[in-house]
Amino acid sequence: MPQNYQEYARRIRGYAGIAEVNEYARVVEGGVEYPLFRLTLPGERWLVITSGFHGEEPAGPLTLCHAFEAIAEYARERHVGLRVYPCINPSGFEDGTRYNRSGEKPNNDFLRYETAPGEWKGELTRGESFLRWALYEGGPKETRAVRSDIARYPAPAAALDIHQDNYLPGAATYAYTFGDKSPYRQLMQDASAHAHVIRNDKVDEHNRTDSDGLIEYNDGSVTDYFLRIGVPYTATLETTTRTPLEACHAINLIWIRGFIDLAARGSESSE
Ligand SMILES: [Zn+2]
Repeated sequence: MPQNYQEYARRIRGYAGIAEVNEYARVVEGGVEYPLFRLTLPGERWLVITSGFHGEEPAGPLTLCHAFEAIAEYARERHVGLRVYPCINPSGFEDGTRYNRSGEKPNNDFLRYETAPGEWKGELTRGESFLRWALYEGGPKETRAVRSDIARYPAPAAALDIHQDNYLPGAATYAYTFGDKSPYRQLMQDASAHAHVIRNDKVDEHNRTDSDGLIEYNDGSVTDYFLRIGVPYTATLETTTRTPLEACHAINLIWIRGFIDLAARGSESSE
C-alpha cells in the first residue's frame, strides 16, 4: 500500500501548534531526501512511541498522524510527555515495502548480546542467557538516526512500538511485551472488539503467543532496548495488514491511551 510521504510530512508539520516538531535527521533514499520527524510534548513522565520501522505496515504511522491531536490531549490531561517518532522508514512507507529503498532492514539493530566471550548476536533464543549487552553501532541509516536520537534521552516511563504483521491471514492482533502481563490483559481484551486476538498460536517460526495474545522475545529491537535500560512498560503491538484500517486505528489508540495511562502511573520504584 504505497503512501505519499510529502503529504504525510505536511500534516506532521501542521502539528507545530500543539507539539514541538523536530527533524532529528534526514536520509537520502533513491536520490530523494526524507526528513525524519519527532513530535515532542512536554510532561512529568515520558512515553516514547515509535512506528513505521517496516514500510509495508502503514497503520501505525497513519494512526499517529490522523489522531495526534486527540493523543496529545489525552497525554496532556495526564501530565504525560510524549516523544513520538511517527514514521521511521519513509522510503519504505512511500513504496509500501518492508525495507528501505536501499534494501536495508531498519528494524532491530538497537543492541547486541554477548552470549559467550567474544560471541555477539542480535537476538536471544528463548531463555538463552548472556554475559552483557551493548548498544549497537551499525545498521541501516534510519536505525542509526532514530537510535542515536532515542539514546540521547533518559529512559522514559513507558515505550510503545507500533507494527503490523504482513504474513498472517485475517484481521488479527497480538503483542510483544516483557515481564508482568497484567497491565496488558485489558488492552488485549478491549482490542478483541476490533480484531481476533491470536491466543496460544504460532505467529512465525520463532514465536507463539500465550493465552493473552502476548509473546516475549529479545530480538534487539527498540522494545528490547527499552527493556534493557529499565523501562517498566514496553511493548510492540501488532495488527495484521489484513485488518481493516479503521480497526487498526481503534486498536492502536487503545494501546496508545493504555500506555499513556501506564506512563502516568509510573513504576513503583520511581514513586
Ligand atoms: Zn514490523
